[in-house]
Amino acid sequence: MSENMLKVGGIPLDRLAERVGSTPFFAYDRALITERVRLLKAKLPNDISLGYAIKANPMPAVVQHLAGLVDAFDVASALELRVALDTPMRPHNVSFAGPGKREAELSQAIAAGITVELESETEARRVMKAGERLGIRPRVAIRVNPDFAVKGSGMRMGGGPQQFGIDAERVPEVLKELAESGLDLLGFHIFAGSQNLRADILCQAQQQTVELALRLAEHSPEPVRYLNIGGGFGIPYHEKDSPLDLDPIAANLDELLRTRIKPNLPDAKVQVELGRYLVGEAGVYVTRVVDRKESRGKVFLVVDGGMHHQLAASGNFGQVIRRNYPLVVGNRMAEEPVGEASVVGCLCTPLDLLGDNLSLPAADIGDLVVLFQAGAYGLTASPTAFLSHPAPAEVLV
Ligand SMILES: *Cc1c(COP(=O)(O)O)cnc(C)c1O
Repeated sequence: MSENMLKVGGIPLDRLAERVGSTPFFAYDRALITERVRLLKAKLPNDISLGYAIKANPMPAVVQHLAGLVDAFDVASALELRVALDTPMRPHNVSFAGPGKREAELSQAIAAGITVELESETEARRVMKAGERLGIRPRVAIRVNPDFAVKGSGMRMGGGPQQFGIDAERVPEVLKELAESGLDLLGFHIFAGSQNLRADILCQAQQQTVELALRLAEHSPEPVRYLNIGGGFGIPYHEKDSPLDLDPIAANLDELLRTRIKPNLPDAKVQVELGRYLVGEAGVYVTRVVDRKESRGKVFLVVDGGMHHQLAASGNFGQVIRRNYPLVVGNRMAEEPVGEASVVGCLCTPLDLLGDNLSLPAADIGDLVVLFQAGAYGLTASPTAFLSHPAPAEVLV
């Protein structure tokens, strides 16, 4: 019967569920994460440094594992910073982005010696003051809100009015003001958007990002030593999505490095920063069927998890139209579908829908329903307190 049982990290799912001790749970496969980083390192130019945006999956064991694989971490809060600093990653290779950083968070970042990515002019002033108070020269980069937008992104985070970064047209003025400020101005961070599956659009965005950085660099009081060009590499969440083709992206980056960046910004370390692409496909969310019911001809499998743990699969995390995430009955992998069923969670809201009208084998109470693509923006991007159910376990296998 073993072919009927899904394996996660090489472990049969029923055995893994016993080992974890309770459902629901998230399991992340360390070999898949390692393999994904190896693939990127093999394809991307050697001079590109690869950063991991911890907010995609901040589980300490995952971050620890990635510390030995990637070149840099990006954190978005003081707690993520602590997780990053617990790993062997050098503080010089950690950056802190995100709007609304508190004074205490900025002080922690400066004391740690990491790079603060300035999201506003107010933040620049706060960093200066904190640096003076601590007697430390803060390492900073300017997060730039680009003067272009990227089409096809699941989430747009640059172009037009944004809470992220300083508008590109303001940056020359800000650079002038920062010249005498005592800040160690390393360079720029330009991040335009997320979850893009179109290599041609990502290539165009990288070109525009580099051209913008070169224009801004002319106003920089110091040579640019750090250029974070963002990422936005998407992963396939739905049946009709095709995986991103890395080859054109790698070729484009290689050309940009040779023809534009190295001749003009010879001191710049160029960083690509990825979240979901590194971890999203390495994770599963495992739930158990608690009830199977029919209502007016429709079959519902009610599981012990739901949108309070895996909001994205319910379609309520940034999606415009709800589409099913890949889902299987993990202990019936070799069985033929017998009809349609909808998988719902245990919350008292019709929003708690994990799979709608799926063609599934004859699933019943006790079976294990597995949602894929759960390694990024799962547990920590979900409203876990909603309905006060217990928190799920997380394991790295
Ligand atoms: C969230 C975030 C990322 C990661 O986005 P993914 O879509 O997970 O790759 C990268 N950079 C910044 C600045 C972010 O805020």
